[in-house]
This record gives sequence, structure tokens and C-alpha cells, in this order.
Amino acid sequence: MSQAQIEPSKSTSANNVSAISAQSLYEKCWALAQNIWWSWHPEVNNLFRDLDPIRWRQLDHNPVALLREFTPERLEMRAGELVLYSRINQAYRRLKEYLASTDTWGATHAGVLGAMPVAYFSAEFGLHESVPIYSGGLGVLSGDHIKSASDLAAPLVAIGLFYDQGYFKQHLDKDGWQHEEYFDTKVKNVPMEPAVTPDGKPITVTIQTRSGNLKAKVWLMRVGRVHLYLLDCDVEGNSPEDRELTARLYGGDIRTRIRQELVLGVGGVRALDALNITPGAYHLNEGHSAFAALEVIRGRMENDGLSFDDALREVAQRTVFTTHTPVPAGHDRFDGAMVEEHLGPLRDQLGISFEQLMGLGRVEPQNEHETLCMTVLALKLSRRANAVSSLHGHVSRRMWAHLWPWRVEEEIPIGHITNGVHVQSWLALQMQQLYDRIFPANWMEQMGEPDVWKGIHSIDPGELWETHHTLKNLLVTFVRRRLSRQCRRRGESDEMIEAARTILDPGVLTIGFARRFATYKRADLILSDLDRFVELINDTNRPIQFIFAGKAHPADDPGKRLIEKIANLRHDERFASKVAFIEDYDINVGRHLTQGVDVWLNNPRRPLEASGTSGQKVVLNGGLNCSVLDGWWAEAFDGSNGFAIGRGTSHVSDEINDGRDADELYRVLEQEVIPLFYDRDLDGLPRRWVEMMMNSIGSLAWRFSAHRMVMDYVKTAYLPAAGGSSCSMNFP
Ligand SMILES: *Cc1c(COP(=O)(O)O)cnc(C)c1O
Repeated sequence: MSQAQIEPSKSTSANNVSAISAQSLYEKCWALAQNIWWSWHPEVNNLFRDLDPIRWRQLDHNPVALLREFTPERLEMRAGELVLYSRINQAYRRLKEYLASTDTWGATHAGVLGAMPVAYFSAEFGLHESVPIYSGGLGVLSGDHIKSASDLAAPLVAIGLFYDQGYFKQHLDKDGWQHEEYFDTKVKNVPMEPAVTPDGKPITVTIQTRSGNLKAKVWLMRVGRVHLYLLDCDVEGNSPEDRELTARLYGGDIRTRIRQELVLGVGGVRALDALNITPGAYHLNEGHSAFAALEVIRGRMENDGLSFDDALREVAQRTVFTTHTPVPAGHDRFDGAMVEEHLGPLRDQLGISFEQLMGLGRVEPQNEHETLCMTVLALKLSRRANAVSSLHGHVSRRMWAHLWPWRVEEEIPIGHITNGVHVQSWLALQMQQLYDRIFPANWMEQMGEPDVWKGIHSIDPGELWETHHTLKNLLVTFVRRRLSRQCRRRGESDEMIEAARTILDPGVLTIGFARRFATYKRADLILSDLDRFVELINDTNRPIQFIFAGKAHPADDPGKRLIEKIANLRHDERFASKVAFIEDYDINVGRHLTQGVDVWLNNPRRPLEASGTSGQKVVLNGGLNCSVLDGWWAEAFDGSNGFAIGRGTSHVSDEINDGRDADELYRVLEQEVIPLFYDRDLDGLPRRWVEMMMNSIGSLAWRFSAHRMVMDYVKTAYLPAAGGSSCSMNFP
């Protein structure tokens, strides 16, 4: 469209009016961009995209950065060309209404928390690809948790760290080896503002250590109704090294780690204090933030004159701890010198000895050889602890049984609340529109309720299949675009680029595998028997194809070798057009993959997957899970809503285990998945497959939604912790 279509202003007064309206239009868009609420509302998302689709993609779907490229006048012109006025006004009105509404689940069920919200601590938050302060599953879970808390209006504030370089961007070289790159996030393009005290002063917190003071400023990020406070050490008064302390997520050495955790925990509690927020309950999401409880204890001693023991008891009563790590090596541990350097001054104020402090983080308090473990500390400082799936509950109780040596395993006080995903963040618009037609009008507010999803069985199977196909086509287009871009960046030949442009066939059974490349997740299990794999891929009548994605931790060479092995399949012509590796797995890649695959593959060494959530995103969009009976799948699979690899047993020998699971994986694909997918009726419709899609959506979507998860936390953990009604958590 050309500018000529815009009617030129005739008079100065008209010019003024137009300037005012341009300004107001811009301000509305700006307000929308400043609340991450926009990201889970497709119509607002599309509004920003339509302003400039190419820049939108180049800017990582960041509306703040996009709007900075517009003047109010140019924005108004674009809005005029595209007839966006009413869409902008409507989106703005919806946000206002959302923020103002009082008729909410939270008002009815969590009212007592109102003035004393839950303080939710997490080291990472995965909210959107344009806000890179997450690395993977834990972050996406925290992000989904606070989005659902917002939608339900559960009173909650969140505390995290602002990493201005975030986690690394992944590139593979021509040989398939992973390289890591860090980029500075421009603070001005992040939707946040300095957090201020009730009388309007910006907040800086100071934390004493034996080796000097550490300072952090506090940002406020709006996530719907939830305020997320992010601490940032890049402030004047810190040494140059300390200014970089919060630059990278999980970067640096063990000393960086304890200092980051000190800022998150102790600094986080100080920030709440400065904000004049008195939490009714504290939720430590993973052990990283366990120092928070010590600082709350200090506050109670100072303000209410309690003894250390009494304060500990009271604070533990208010504290909820969620553990996520089923392997002992995955827990943060700090030696005595490190602890004394960083917690010495706080320990003085608590009036406890070095041995007492270390004892709080040890399984055997007197054992001088034990380091301070953040998980043990969190378990001892919280009255309510939970794992993130039923199976993980069993594993956690066994792992920490020696903390309660007088109890039998069933009585170890670690329950479980299974993880879930924020439906609106992961559900494709096309699928949502289908649900809108068959579910009750207000289904979005009630997606944690089973009844809502029963309606799926009344859908026209052909329509469900068509919708899935549309999404699968979009995925194939996405993969081709990404792969050809990867080839161009590596400076590869025109033939390679051309091959990338035509990779994959939308008609073929498409299996996705995206996760962190830790060796226990066994990304290469499907390659165990290469001949068998070749046969499956190249079957003339019933072929299959694969899309892989995932990062390895920068220090994890075995993980990087797995990536190399899979990425290099593209140099083998038996696989070249059938196996794709997409670089730089993030929320954007995750969304495309989970919305478009036929099958989502998950084959970790059982029981090392605490929960997993990516398969839950797949459920919402009509894909089917094919997974080892581990994590959430162990309690989700019912024989008719997806596929199980193995029978939920594991052998002590990894080698035997891997061999068995590989056999089972091939068997399930050959005998169940592939035949069912290619079993078509006269119209080409895989009726039994579509039935399984319906079973999957109907039985799983509500259970593994973050709405259900947050409601469980409110009822069984937050309310009891805050002294409200009591209701016990899931135990075996
Ligand atoms: C959902 C998601 C995860 C978590 O998925 P798992 O099933 O735990 O592997 C990790 N990373 C990204 C980018 C995600 O979107």
C-alpha cells in the first residue's frame, strides 16, 4: 500500500488533532507492549506482527524494540493503511478490563492471601523468546506458573534475576559442533521499569559479605496481573566483576553461583521489604533461592524479637519448597569457606555458629565432610515440600529419606504437584478457534477443569485432522526457513541451501525431539541400530522423518558430541532429507515444534526426568506422545491416549537399560505408531489416530495445565502455609 492513500491534512487544526490521535494510538500500543500479557493473546501478537512482519521476525518478536522503530506519526499511518484502529483499541480495552476485573477464581478461592501475597522465587523465568532470562524447562515452568497465577488472579508476586546476556545462543559449525554466543540484551528493549518504594524512590538493595558489599537494583516486569521483580547487579558502587555478576544465567564458577543465589534469596527478600510487601507465604521454586528463608528469619528476629528457633519454626510454616532434580549431582553445594564468606554477616545477625549454619544444609548436621546443599537447606527451612510428578515424589522421598531416619519412606514429608503448561501460551490459534466453537463460551477461564475438555469428542474428526495438518505445514515451512538460514550462515554450497529449502515432506509421519542435550535424555537412542533406523526412515510406503533441537550445557562435551552425531546425519544421503536439526532451541522453536509434530518422542533413562512439560504442549495441539513411562507420562498414559516405550521398569545397568529401551522404541514405532498413522479410510483420514488425538486432548489437557497446577498449589500449599484453610498435598 502506498502513502498516497492517506488523506493529507488540510488545516493546522486538523494536524493537531491528528498529532494527538497519533500520540494516543502510540501510547496504547506502548502500554500493550509493556505488559507481557500481550504474548498469550494471539490477536495482540498478530497486531504487532502486522505492523511490520519482517522486522517483527528480525527483532525476535519484541514489540518494545519494534515500537521504538516507529514514530507516532508513522504508526498512525500504518494503522490507517491496515485498518488497525479498532484492533488496537479493542486489545487495549481488553487489557484494561483484565487488570481491573474482580470476578476471578482467586477472589473466590484465595481471597485470604489478598493483602499478603505469595512470594514466588525462581532463578529463571521463561515468558517469551524476546525476554531471554531463561535457559530451559525450569524457566518455562516458572513463566507458565506466574501466567496462570495471573489469569486465575491468585495473589502472587515473583522474584528473579535480570540477566542482561541471558543464556547463550547456539550455533553449529559445518562439522556439527556447538558454539555458544552471548548477546547483550538492550535494557531499553525489555518491558520493565525501575521498581520503586511506596513513596516513589528507586530501590537498591545491599547485601553484606565478609569480602565487601554487593548491591543490586530492582526492576519491575508486568506479567498480566503479576508483578515480577528482577534483581540486577549492574549498578554503580559494585566492583567491575560484581557488575557482571548477573550478566549470564548459570555462567561462571561456583563463587558466581553462590553470589547469584545470595542476591536472589537475600536480595529478593530485602526488595520485598523495600516495596512494603509482606508475603503470606514463600515459594522457593528449586533450591537456588533457599537463602531467602534465612533472611526472612532474620527479619522476624529483628522485628518481632523472636529467638532463632522460634523464628525458624514460624518461617518454615510459611515456606513451600519445590524440588526439581532427581539426581544427587544436580544439587548446588557450597563448601564452608564459600558459605562463611557470603553468609557470615547474616549468620552473625542470626546469632548462630558456623557449624549450626552448615548443619542446616547437611544431611548429618555434625558431619564436617558434608558441604552445604541448597536442597537440604530448603527442605529444613520449609514445612511443605513437593516434587513435580508422582513418580518424582517417590524418587525424592527415597533420595532424602536419611534426613528423616526415624521415618519409613512413605512418611517422608515430600509430596507432589505435577507440572503443567500455560494453555494460552502454547495452544496454536487455529486449534484455539476450533475449541472456541465446541467448548463452553468461558472455557478459557476454566481450563483446569476436566468437564471443559470432554467436548473434544464431539468434534468432527476430519476437521481436527485438517487443523493439525495446517499446523504441520506451518512447521515444515518454519524448519525449511531455519535450515536454509543456518546453511547460509555457515557459508555452505548452493546445493546445501537448496536441499534445506525442500527438506521434509508434510505428508510423512513427523516425529519431534527437542530437549536439553544431557546424556541421560538419550537423544541418540533411535540411532542405536542404524540399519533399523534407515529402514524406518526410508520405507517406501510408510516412511518417517525427524526434527531435532536442543542445546548442550557449554561445559558438557558428551552432550555436544550427541548434537554432533545427530546434526551430521545431514551429510549422509540416507538421512539428508529426512532428519533436521534446528539450532538454538528456545520458546519460539518450542512453540513451532510442539504445535506441528505428529509424535513427540521422549526417551530419558528412567526415572531421571522429574516431570517434563514439552509433551504437555504437544497434547494441546493434537500431537501424540511416545515416551518412556517417566515423569508426567508415567501418570498420564492410560493405554489409549498415546504410546508407551517399555513398561515402566529400569535396570541398574545403564547398558542393559539402554539396549532394552532401544528395542522397545523400535517395537513401538514399527508395531504401533507407524501402522496406526498410515491406517487410512477411503477419504484418507486416519480415523483411529484421530480418535487417539481426541483421547489425548480429552484426558490430559486439563490435568497437565498450569491452571490446574496453580490451583493445586493454592489449595494444598499456599493457603495452609499462610494460615488459611488446610488441605493436604498428594502423598503416595
Ligand atoms: C517446554 C520447554 C522446555 C521443557 O521441556 P522438557 O519436556 O522438560 O524438555 C525446555 N525448553 C523450552 C524452550 C521449552 O519450550
